[in-house]
Amino acid sequence: MDLNLNSAVDNSASMEGEQAESVRVLIIGSGPAGLSAALYAARADLEPVVLTGMELGGQVSLTFAVENYPGFPEGIGGMELVELFQKQAERFGARLEYDLAAEVDFSERPYKVITQNGKHYLAESIIITTGASAIHLNVPGENEFTGRGVSYCATCDGWFFKDKEVMVVGGGDSAVEESLFLTRYADNVTIVHRRDELRAGAILSERAQSNPKIKFAWNTVVEEIAGNGAVQTVKLTDTQTGDQREEEIDGVFIFIGHNPNTSLFKDQLEMDANGYLIINNRMQTKFPGVYAAGEVADPHFRQVITSAGMGAAAAIQANRFLDENAIADK
Ligand code: NAP
Repeated sequence: MDLNLNSAVDNSASMEGEQAESVRVLIIGSGPAGLSAALYAARADLEPVVLTGMELGGQVSLTFAVENYPGFPEGIGGMELVELFQKQAERFGARLEYDLAAEVDFSERPYKVITQNGKHYLAESIIITTGASAIHLNVPGENEFTGRGVSYCATCDGWFFKDKEVMVVGGGDSAVEESLFLTRYADNVTIVHRRDELRAGAILSERAQSNPKIKFAWNTVVEEIAGNGAVQTVKLTDTQTGDQREEEIDGVFIFIGHNPNTSLFKDQLEMDANGYLIINNRMQTKFPGVYAAGEVADPHFRQVITSAGMGAAAAIQANRFLDENAIADK
């Protein structure tokens, strides 16, 4: 592959007639992986630019409390943690752009990225940290009532269900953690799980099982969500007996896992069967200087700390790569 190193800092470079900005490190995504990569790249004096994406901070910004990120013995709010990550990265020279990557071209270096706002970048190295998004149930009524009783974020929408009855679909850590959060507002929270045992870890499971506001509908799946302007009922099926029933409900919160945000890289980067980016143990994709970190490339751990660690590792590698190619100091 032609590395085309001479054009590394050519700020007059143009892409399809547009003025392009040349950067040494472009970070796509602003969750824990992206902001940690930004911190490390900034401290290496690489003046990274971060395209924040739709949601500054990614999924963790929607989390009420993070209790397992070291250094915060009492826990910390998800958004508060993101703000600290941002502040620390900016202190050393990272620049956040509230914009989305809309097109990428890895066919030659510097790599080309065009944003939704029409900005063009030529990047010597790229760190992809686009994270993952909530999986939908794909049942009738789900799309129609999203924002009108159907939600994927208890922190955002829990308040609207004060003194109401809600259901939470799923049996993992997210479903249980968010159910516990919802008990602050709702009168009752029913966890609807397709099996008879939670996937969530022991501490969260015990907390939920001993919370008087939380009930469980085991071996149960949601078939349909219905209402009139807002959610009123759900149709449920017992997976053991096949029996169907309808229940009145004010809200349905869905936490059944996530899909990686990788459609932008289709046909360019290698992905596994579920769409996660394939990287080596140095966070590298198949293109020199292109790295991925965090949930977009991690179907296994998916924690704030593991994503942050991957982001830091990707930035260290990007710095080494730029150094080896004599770009870092230009
Ligand atoms: P998850 O662990 O993949 O759990 C998804 C849950 O949804 C499972 O219980 C699964 O059922 C159920 N499910 C999947 N597809 C479904 C469908 N179509 N219909 C009905 N139910 C369905 O996802 P997560 O809870 O979002 O957690 C993701 C990762 O983040 C995990 O690694 C988790 O440990 C981590 N996390 C950690 C914390 C924490 O440590 N505090 C908090 C949140 C998340 P089955 O069990 O039958 O497969």
